[in-house]
Amino acid sequence: MKKTAHIISHSHWDREWYLPFEQHRYYFIKLMNHLIEQFNQKGNAFKSFHLDGQTVLLEDYFAVHPENRDIVKQLIEEKKLYIGPWYILQDAFLTSSEANIRNLQIGLSDTKTYGHASKIGYFPDTFGIYGQAPQILKQANIDTAAFGRGVKPTGFNNTVSDTTNFESPYSEMDWQSPDGSKVLGILFANWYSNGNEIPADKQEAKAFWDKKLQDAEKYASTNQLLFMNGCDHQPLQKNIPDAIETASALYPDYRFKHSSFDEYIEALQDSLPDRLQVIEGELRNQRTDGWSTLVNTASSRIYLKQWNNYCQSLLEKVAEPLAAMNFLAGNAYPHKYIQFMWKSLMKNHPHDSICGCSVDAVHREMVTRFETVAQMGDVFIKEKAKELSRNIDTSNTPEGGIPLIVINTTGWKKNDVITKTVDLDKVYFSQMPFEEIPVYLQNKTTPGYKLVDSEGKIIDYQLDDPTIAFGYDLPDDQFRQPYYAKRAELSFFTEDIPAFGYKTFYLVPSEDPMQRPRQNKMVTENHDTEMENDYVHVSFHADGSYDLMNKVTGESFHHLGIYEDTGDIGNEYMYKETERHPAITTKGVKAEFKFLERSTLRSKLEVTQTLTIPVSADDQLATERNYLIWHKEREAGRSEEVTTLTLRTVVTLTKGMKGPSFKLMVDNQATDHRLRVLFPTGIETETHKADSIFEIVSRPNTPEKEWENPSFCHHQQRFSSLADNQKGLTVATDGLHEYEILKEDGTIALTVLRSVAELGDWGDFPTPEAQCQGLQTAEWQVLPHEKDVIQSQAFVDAYQFKVPLVPVQEGIHEGVWPENHQFVKTEADGLAWSSMKVEEEREDVMIRWFNPVEKKLPLHATIKNYQSFKSSILEEKTNQEDELYEVGKHEIITLGFHNKH
Ligand SMILES: [Zn+2]
Repeated sequence: MKKTAHIISHSHWDREWYLPFEQHRYYFIKLMNHLIEQFNQKGNAFKSFHLDGQTVLLEDYFAVHPENRDIVKQLIEEKKLYIGPWYILQDAFLTSSEANIRNLQIGLSDTKTYGHASKIGYFPDTFGIYGQAPQILKQANIDTAAFGRGVKPTGFNNTVSDTTNFESPYSEMDWQSPDGSKVLGILFANWYSNGNEIPADKQEAKAFWDKKLQDAEKYASTNQLLFMNGCDHQPLQKNIPDAIETASALYPDYRFKHSSFDEYIEALQDSLPDRLQVIEGELRNQRTDGWSTLVNTASSRIYLKQWNNYCQSLLEKVAEPLAAMNFLAGNAYPHKYIQFMWKSLMKNHPHDSICGCSVDAVHREMVTRFETVAQMGDVFIKEKAKELSRNIDTSNTPEGGIPLIVINTTGWKKNDVITKTVDLDKVYFSQMPFEEIPVYLQNKTTPGYKLVDSEGKIIDYQLDDPTIAFGYDLPDDQFRQPYYAKRAELSFFTEDIPAFGYKTFYLVPSEDPMQRPRQNKMVTENHDTEMENDYVHVSFHADGSYDLMNKVTGESFHHLGIYEDTGDIGNEYMYKETERHPAITTKGVKAEFKFLERSTLRSKLEVTQTLTIPVSADDQLATERNYLIWHKEREAGRSEEVTTLTLRTVVTLTKGMKGPSFKLMVDNQATDHRLRVLFPTGIETETHKADSIFEIVSRPNTPEKEWENPSFCHHQQRFSSLADNQKGLTVATDGLHEYEILKEDGTIALTVLRSVAELGDWGDFPTPEAQCQGLQTAEWQVLPHEKDVIQSQAFVDAYQFKVPLVPVQEGIHEGVWPENHQFVKTEADGLAWSSMKVEEEREDVMIRWFNPVEKKLPLHATIKNYQSFKSSILEEKTNQEDELYEVGKHEIITLGFHNKH
């Protein structure tokens, strides 16, 4: 049987990378215009073009050429132009679990409006892929994935052997998720450019194909060979029909076909061998020498990752569930606005964008995008919280009291210390000449207060001294309403705020006020450096490191929190440590301590440490960059000139926290270096756990034998964790995605800052802003626990780090909803909650969890007057209706709730 060479024309389009977005778009417009011209030519044998798996490119094009919408739509319907399934080509590890799902949902929904969707999980350039990708694709009815990285192929003879994980003899393999879902995996073994610029000239074509056919056959398990006719930002090769004619004449034993993924996969499926190598879980280049994994994009320009984590949490953990609760309360769900926020955020999710491996102009634009998403999220949450609160009956408010409603938008019951600015008194400009109001409010006596819950139970709180502040309301049906308020910050401990629910509290004037002034604010006590609550005891050493005791188990960890600085002569993609320069640490360097706050609710301790480090790399680095010396081969050292890094860390321990949280502030004036914080757990294990996409994944502490890079860093979503049978330590983070497990003392090393000066990759692209100069911050929480992060349920606390409750100050009125309420009742012990939203077409409420363990777990969830059903990540309606659902091992489960009326 003849072999078939499938030639798929495409262009891998990084929307922004070594050029800013608008400059890459200039060339993209050209490409699209050429494509339309090409398809419109009469008698043209140019069959099809693959538009890189991302529908956002159409938005980019129509913004300039809206008049070509119909032509493009027609090309898609005629299966000439292939689009989707993604909205953008995301980085898989640095975007959240939900962002990965939304990317597919929005991409597929876009393809519906344009016509046909390319049903291939397309990850051409993705810097490693998470292990749950096959499950996500299967739930979206996609059976095939194509990727360029993560697996090392080993081409040899034509027999399939059971090689170790992460290796396959063929470019075709079975790729399996931890739940057992399998897709056909296609590795671009010779990259997604193995058919780029195919010569039409006979002599050149011979040289080209002799090599290319051999390269492809080396890895192919069938007689269907794949040639990707394109590369990064590749202009259109218009004479592909001629090139195909030349090749057909040269090689009569082969059939050359201008093909598409639809056609290639169909032909491939028919001729696959009975058995393919099964590759399980994550694809992270673990069986390579470790020098090209691109893993250190996880710590490149950390400020971007922090912005992203903030915006993702805002949308998926607060805005959407809040809107869904509002929907259950009888209000409209603003589908389009929420989608607009997601799309805006996702424009920062492509691999060269969120990875921080582009030129400075790209990342400056990203910061502006993040800012706009945060602005939208903030106003959305504020308005939605008000909308919900307006429907809550607060008419039982004691005389003169102020109702405060605390909304929990997450799938977990929450205990937390809340801080909320409260207007104790307010005078509108319409009530008094505005210049008189401040004095009036100032002179008015502020009463003492007590804080009570709806049952009258007295709640511990603290209230700052009030100030007079300007404010304004924007009513739905009236002109803006300016006012002055007597305003103060109120902090109080809230217990058992129900999942997807709220509780009402009342701040009530009282003759016998329960107010306790904030104690010891701004006290300096260098001799007493301990913090304690019901769960942990923290005691600091003179160098700023600390011992952490889990009061529940009595187990302790010692000397946590040492900072470590090393030289980095790599680039935005890869860390390369300067040799001959040992790490500089804060160990033994005297720290200064200052309590910023100490009360029954909260202790805040400021620890200041200094590190004297080389100001930059030595002069050799500039030459090595200039000559494009590959990072692995570089020999530059650190400069002799030194500078001082002042590390200011604020440690917070509030009532109810399972472990202290940390915020590092550092004014970075050094370049070419990396700063980490170390957690020596003393735990000796072979493996550890890390949060990934819909998975708490187990990874080996030491690399495979092929690994040569002395650094063995990994990606994490929100936490990493070490544990033995007795005790464990989990470090939850806010946008810190890189960690390493060091053998010495079982240490978790968390990267908090990385400073480099160039993009890397194929040319000389200086990126001075990747040095991250000026004020940089980092936040994390240290959670000691029994056993491992899953068994101890420490993951629940880790997932809630920096996910806030929403407090609202409300007026006094009647309402249809009671003072305390839970919209969704769930029994989901052991499951990890992910999202709650409303589906657009049927307006079913959709809630998603995943099962982090190897065994089945029960799930029970009810909404009054709604019938639940089991759906998929695409959120379609099914007849699988139950009272109690069984969630399979590592299953991602989405329940729908359909209104019975
Ligand atoms: Zn790319």
